[in-house]
Amino acid sequence: MDAHYKFSVAICGGGIGGLLLAVSLSRYPDIKVDVYEAAKLFADVGAGIGLWPRTWKIMEQLGLADELAKIAIISPANIPKVAFNLRKGDQPVGETFSQLVTPGGMITFHRPDFQTVVLQHLSSTSCRTHTSKRLISYSAPSDSTTSSSPVYLHFEDGTTATCDLLIGADGIKSVVRADMLRAIAAQAQSDGRVQEEKEASESIDASWSGVLMYRTSFPSEALSQKLPGHRVLHDPMIYVGRDTQLTVYPMARGTRINFAASRLYWEKENTRFNEPWIREVSRDELLSAFDGWEPEVSALLQCTPSLSRWAIHCVRSLRSYVSGPVALIGDAAHGMLPYQGVGAGQAFEDGFILANVLGHPKTTIDSLSRALEIYDVIRRPYSQRAVELSRDNALLFSLNYPGLAFSTPEEDMADNKNNQLQELHDRAYNNWDWCWTTTIDEDLQRAITMLEQS
Ligand SMILES: Cc1cc2nc3c(=O)[nH]c(=O)nc-3n(C[C@H](O)[C@H](O)[C@H](O)COP(=O)(O)OP(=O)(O)OC[C@H]3O[C@@H](n4cnc5c(N)ncnc54)[C@H](O)[C@@H]3O)c2cc1C
Repeated sequence: MDAHYKFSVAICGGGIGGLLLAVSLSRYPDIKVDVYEAAKLFADVGAGIGLWPRTWKIMEQLGLADELAKIAIISPANIPKVAFNLRKGDQPVGETFSQLVTPGGMITFHRPDFQTVVLQHLSSTSCRTHTSKRLISYSAPSDSTTSSSPVYLHFEDGTTATCDLLIGADGIKSVVRADMLRAIAAQAQSDGRVQEEKEASESIDASWSGVLMYRTSFPSEALSQKLPGHRVLHDPMIYVGRDTQLTVYPMARGTRINFAASRLYWEKENTRFNEPWIREVSRDELLSAFDGWEPEVSALLQCTPSLSRWAIHCVRSLRSYVSGPVALIGDAAHGMLPYQGVGAGQAFEDGFILANVLGHPKTTIDSLSRALEIYDVIRRPYSQRAVELSRDNALLFSLNYPGLAFSTPEEDMADNKNNQLQELHDRAYNNWDWCWTTTIDEDLQRAITMLEQS
């Protein structure tokens, strides 16, 4: 390795989490970065992504804000804005029962546009990207990192590469997580740590959440033709209903509508999904789930061209995101339900904190393990809390809290209904407010202090 690099990092997976980590590391010219992506091109799905103020501040710190502002509407953070209207839509005449008003609202992007900006901010000198490089396994020294013991990466095309530190940013089906946990399980078994072995083995594969999500996006023009003045042309909406839910919002400066409808089978949570996790389906499959919903929801359904059905999987809570010279970030570490719109935001936080501890002058190849330990201590509890809160929002938005079924005449009485829906709003708001009332600065400072006191 070139002498002016203090160590080399391989990022397995060039999704938005891996790329944002590469941008964060691009600020440190003494770290050599290689991004290995399985696909032929860096290309995100054509759906939307929303960022909350907590995440947006990271974009500002990385110098991405000005260019991102060209492809999204950024409202000033000190001005309250409707992030979402919550509306009960599973009835002939729907009712909007609350507005989630937050500082600056949620900033929405078309994912391919977002990814294009991120790619433009990779260092042209210290960072290289490689496509069509699907990792199939790695071999690493078992405990700490030393300069004489690199990590070996083995790719599907028969080639290999080495690095001092491997970051698994390879998403929900992570090969890096699987290899890491297999090794941990084997070690635990030989040491007789039965519970640890069981936990590690069970976490190798992500488990089905019981949620099927139907995703697409379409031009706003199609909706205004179908139902002129439709509220989703200007307002982000969450339509709630029993076991069925719909999130829709304008994005790309209002030119497109993002559409994500879910059908939730709670009784199937943590079971195995035996079909392909992502599949193109016809609109008919979705229409039956929304039978009896209000006309403005039907109008949205009629605008969907083709739909991609995602069986949403989650990662069981891991004991650590780090093992020897290998660490996990993003969905590989904490794939979660999407009902707070924070999975990518949490991946960015992982990458931002990790890059800051790796780039710190105190971190050298000989102290990499300490930097990784700090990353894990700071990021694991925070991201796992986001996993829990996202699940809680899923229960709320699918009306699966006690009292929210409205299945008896008493439950359906106006007063009771209003009270229950108000409670739904309050609970969702309280679950969510960390996204706009907190910043990552405190965690970053804590990480740096831990590093400097090491
Ligand atoms: C319906 C829905 C809506 C969402 N909305 C939001 C939102 O509004 N805001 C938000 O913050 N989050 C949202 N999320 C969550 C967000 O999409 C994910 O958390 C985020 O994409 C995770 O990024 P990642 O880079 O960790 O993984 P991914 O985006 O999955 O990227 C993984 C990358 O690794 C590559 N890869 C996989 N295996 C290998 C291998 N073996 N070798 C090399 N490369 C490999 C893949 O090709 C891919 O490019 C949503 C999720 C869903 C399902």
